[in-house]
Amino acid sequence: MREPIFLDNQSTTPVDPRVLKIVAEIMEKDFGNASSVDHVFGRRAAELVESAREEVSLLVNAEKGRVYFTSGSTEAINIAINHVARNAKRKPAQIVLSPVEHPAVLETCLSLQKQGVAHLSFIKVDSFGRIDFEDLKNLVETGADLVAVMAANNEIGNTYSVEKVAKLCNEFDVPYLCDASQAAGKVNIEFDGWQIDYLVVSGHKIYGPKGSGALVCKRRHLPAGLMHGGAQEQAVRPGTLNVPGIAGLGEACRLRRVEMDVDEPIIADKRDKLQVLLQAGISELKVNGDVGNRLSGSLHISIPGIPSDAVITRICDSLAVSRGASCSSGTEKPSHVLLAMGLSEEEMEGALRIGIGKFNSEADVIAASEILINAVREVRTKMSGVSCKT
Ligand code: PLP
Repeated sequence: MREPIFLDNQSTTPVDPRVLKIVAEIMEKDFGNASSVDHVFGRRAAELVESAREEVSLLVNAEKGRVYFTSGSTEAINIAINHVARNAKRKPAQIVLSPVEHPAVLETCLSLQKQGVAHLSFIKVDSFGRIDFEDLKNLVETGADLVAVMAANNEIGNTYSVEKVAKLCNEFDVPYLCDASQAAGKVNIEFDGWQIDYLVVSGHKIYGPKGSGALVCKRRHLPAGLMHGGAQEQAVRPGTLNVPGIAGLGEACRLRRVEMDVDEPIIADKRDKLQVLLQAGISELKVNGDVGNRLSGSLHISIPGIPSDAVITRICDSLAVSRGASCSSGTEKPSHVLLAMGLSEEEMEGALRIGIGKFNSEADVIAASEILINAVREVRTKMSGVSCKT
């Protein structure tokens, strides 16, 4: 049986074959422990780690030494938020955040609030998922110890002005955490130039290995780690380094740096084509989010009155898309992003997240549109009580 077409590139991405080759070679030959600098095996592993560090920093335009490897964005986010909140002079620490952040940010902050370590203030967002910058400014002026605004949203694909948020945070000397898990390698990020304090990157969103990621910190910040152990990564993240994963992340970052300017407009064209085909074939289809400012591969739609469950059940053998954010799928809770945007229950129930990546062809997009249009037609026919005998 043919594999379904994969259009869920926000949940994760297939590994680029060039990354896979490097990871496999390192697993086979360069098995040294990067901390074992007394012999060539360890030194070779350490060199691989250092060149990956350079590649991560080049992708986000940061100084090389500011990168700490982690198991992914969730860990990097936990390290940064815990560090800032627990070391803030104000007790509890005031955290200003957007309500459409990923659960890695939201749940970390909520847990600190529960413990009495932090107090949270949420920035207003509109029905397109755009943050109200004036509200953010007022909250920061009132007094904040950390601002968390993501670079791009994992559900609706909105991109946010990291530069503008960073400028405001610098004006008021408030640390800024930017979750760039979805954005790095797809949009330009100037870590040093915009003076971002903390930024996180995830390998598996950029055709790299799962379980790899990094926390990038401004020079004056050396976060305390969450774990105790060795002195790896300056104790920000102790534990034997995942050399193949780190080298894979480095190669994924290098490829994104070199190829994103060419790839992303092509991905956006495919996304636009799919959007046009779906709009032509499905009446009442609504495109969610800030369509003028979204990731090139993102297409988030609602088909009011057509539960996404019913569509997914029909298409899952041929097409992989998502009912909502994959990180929270499995829970039956409505998406916190769509709730914050004030979507109607019908719009939320009929929401589908589609994510196109660099390995999707135009044929994938055309086939996906046909699969989705047919599935919606079938659901509508069934719901109207008319049996379909064609
Ligand atoms: N932040 C965003 C915006 C994400 O999309 C994700 C993953 O879906 C994460 C954080 C968590 O990343 P990781 O899987 O690397 O822990």
